[in-house]
Amino acid sequence: MILIVAEHTAGKLAKATLEMVTAARESGREGPITLLVLGQNVASVATEAAAVADQVLVADLPGLATYNAEVWAAATTQIAQEGEAHTVIIGGSRSGREYAPRVAVKLDAAYLEDATRLSSNGAALQAQRYTYLARVTETVEADGTVVVTVKPGSFAPAAPTGAAGEQYDVELSLPAARVEVTGKSVEKSSRVALTEADVIVTGGRGVGSPENFSRYVEALADNLGAGVGATRAVVDAGWRPYAEQVGQTGKTVQPKAYIALGVSGAVQHLSGMGKSKNIIAINKDAEAPIFKVADYGIVGDINEIVPALIEASRK
Ligand code: FAD
Repeated sequence: MILIVAEHTAGKLAKATLEMVTAARESGREGPITLLVLGQNVASVATEAAAVADQVLVADLPGLATYNAEVWAAATTQIAQEGEAHTVIIGGSRSGREYAPRVAVKLDAAYLEDATRLSSNGAALQAQRYTYLARVTETVEADGTVVVTVKPGSFAPAAPTGAAGEQYDVELSLPAARVEVTGKSVEKSSRVALTEADVIVTGGRGVGSPENFSRYVEALADNLGAGVGATRAVVDAGWRPYAEQVGQTGKTVQPKAYIALGVSGAVQHLSGMGKSKNIIAINKDAEAPIFKVADYGIVGDINEIVPALIEASRK
């Protein structure tokens, strides 16, 4: 079977999980697509998971109330061994990349990190991934049991199959965690996370200044209920945090609408957002490469066009 460890927050399945299901479907590997839901009070997550998977294994236990690498690795390994999983797919989040190598070691399996594409080459699982500061895309493959992490935003979210997968409760013997999370401070933001957003407004250097970024990009995003993205030029200039960077060395996103304000469309930026469903670009240079991928483009000055858009979107 193909075992996917579901990512979820606040009782909802994360978009990253739907992306992993697509990765599994595209991998060409055989066997039922099985979602493993680890956590406490995760019944609603399991129901959502059943809509996209062949089967769902649910471990609803107090010991899984908060993420811990040792515990997650032990739980995933146990289920993978019992189900004789030949492919284990884990999200390429910080935590996923923390415990996935442990699972690979415990299973004596090959480990492929940060896959942006999956396919089969005979019995081998083939993956594409960026390397050398994202200057190179390489293809790697591994035989036998493989543990793979998937780069968020690289696959389209899977649509429901139309038939609900079976749900099974599973028993686990969990190890005592040696590392304990002793504090957590959550950044308060009413804005939707980039990797979850259906609409993203991204600002580039053409926005002009950090003040204009707030005035134009953030204001438009807030009116549209959108996530906020930035180019590397803007992040390197210190206008915006790295967490907002979209592109080869930032986040990969695939929203329904991607609105690029003052973004030239460098290849490293396009590789992070080029699969967006609708790309809308505003740039004063008609020759800017962003227009080659844009579905809708406005050649003009942001200072004139965006205030009108903000006004219109307020209504
Ligand atoms: P610019 O290229 O300077 O473009 C600004 C645009 O704004 C121009 O097209 C201009 O016509 C327009 N403009 C200016 N004023 C106005 C106005 N008043 N109204 C309308 N339009 C206006 N970049 C990323 O974004 N993400 C990455 O992850 C990333 N990774 C990289 C990795 C490597 C290894 C390398 C070498 C580069 C990477 N880059 C990345 C950088 C990338 O090559 C570009 O330098 C960067 O994307 C450019 O950002 P920009 O479009 O904001 O700025």
